Amino acid sequence: MNDDLTRLSAAELATRIHSREVSAVEAAQAHLDRIEAVDGDVHAFLHVGAQAALESATLVDESLAAGTAPASPLAGVPLALKDVLTTTDMPTTVGSRILEGWRPPYDATVTSRLRAAGITILGKTNMDEFAMGSSTEYSAYGPTHNPWALDRIPGGSGGGSAAALAAFEAPLAIGTDTGGSIRQPASMTGTVGVKPTYGGVSRYGLVACASSLDQAGPCARTVLDAALLHEIIGGHDPLDSTSIDAPVPAVVEAARRGAEGDLRGLRVGVVRELTGEGYQAGVQENFDAALRELEKLGAEVVEVSAPHFQYGLAAYYLILPSEVSSNLARFDAMRYGLRVDKGASAEEVMAATREAGFGPEVKRRIILGTYALSSGYYDAYYGQAQKVRTLISRDFAAAFEQADVLVSPTAPTTAFPIGDKVDDPLAMYLNDLATIPTNLAGTAAMSVPSGVAAEDGLPTGLQIMAPALGEAVMYRVGAAYEAARDAADGSAFATRAPELEVRA
Ligand code: GLN
Repeated sequence: MNDDLTRLSAAELATRIHSREVSAVEAAQAHLDRIEAVDGDVHAFLHVGAQAALESATLVDESLAAGTAPASPLAGVPLALKDVLTTTDMPTTVGSRILEGWRPPYDATVTSRLRAAGITILGKTNMDEFAMGSSTEYSAYGPTHNPWALDRIPGGSGGGSAAALAAFEAPLAIGTDTGGSIRQPASMTGTVGVKPTYGGVSRYGLVACASSLDQAGPCARTVLDAALLHEIIGGHDPLDSTSIDAPVPAVVEAARRGAEGDLRGLRVGVVRELTGEGYQAGVQENFDAALRELEKLGAEVVEVSAPHFQYGLAAYYLILPSEVSSNLARFDAMRYGLRVDKGASAEEVMAATREAGFGPEVKRRIILGTYALSSGYYDAYYGQAQKVRTLISRDFAAAFEQADVLVSPTAPTTAFPIGDKVDDPLAMYLNDLATIPTNLAGTAAMSVPSGVAAEDGLPTGLQIMAPALGEAVMYRVGAAYEAARDAADGSAFATRAPELEVRA
């Protein structure tokens, strides 16, 4: 009925709601109807909070009717929240059995900022268990399906958030990115995803995977929508000791400026180590075409080298499991979540609970991390990996002397078939080759759709990387590229996701 409202960008929808042409309740209902119609096939959501969503939208409508200015530029717009951020009115499972049905006693800072901004939270989205994975197949609640091809993965770990956008179930979503979990799903689903500078968005209430890498960020179908959301969730939070005490970069203004299509004076650095061999032909072709668009916009395209990026994956898969083995020790069957009362001692109950509550990938990483941190091996593995991390940060610093932003394909391939890599962890890990260096360095990066691959018709992504707190230039380049790509195609990519069969 209101299906057309689901095709609008968040910015367009907000304009209509704030001018009272449509109500926030109608906007929420249109998306709830869409979820009802397609989510049986897509499975982007683990929980839909219809009643709370309609109540929140009603408050926005009442306040607008009373003549009060909207609480934020996105007040009344629906959003899908990754199930790794705590919510008092909905369960938070992190895609794991161990937290099945858990109701957190507090809201994450991201959640409370969304509420304060009048954004309608539709529900919680599916993810790989504890955000470990690249396909959403490691969710304890079953995989999410890519709206572009239902037999394909939507990427991971935030496949639910990305699929919700591509299926027009929500115009906005929140993801988290520890090694690529916002950007790689964005690439796989033809949507926009941003990994902010480490410390740019509060981690308070973000259930930890690897604390030194985790970062929440905005997901949307357009660069401007991501920017609007970024300014709402970003900024200092005294509840997170790693939060940066500085204003949020002015990314909305940067995105608007970028859309004017002038990148003269900017240098775009192509990272030599992140192109060429190992990339699917259509991914590479679309990347090359994106470089031509950036040149047409006036940017100077230069080649840069980041020699230590090749060790990023190896370092990441020591640092991340080490932090995981420590962070996930809190799931001890005593305080919250699942409890399997088998055995006479606390240790036996703990072991039985963790055996039943964690899936194979989580167990693999806990074991790996415990080993890497064990005495006698600590320096050889964890210590060595931390040194690589420093070298990668230095590579970024050197590259940003030569270029204002760096670019690469976001992921080496388009979305692969469900089941393809689930039994081959190394093949799964290789998905994040191009996204991991940014997390290790704590810098910012985004993925913007770069069209569909000629050979399979599936979306590809352009990754744009910026220095820490350099989000403004990144959004400017992203928005300029997006506008140029749409002009070249003759239609907005954001409206092009394929039709799904709607169930009556
Ligand atoms: N795919 C990566 C991993 O499994 C990234 C995960 C993430 O960013 N949360 O670790």
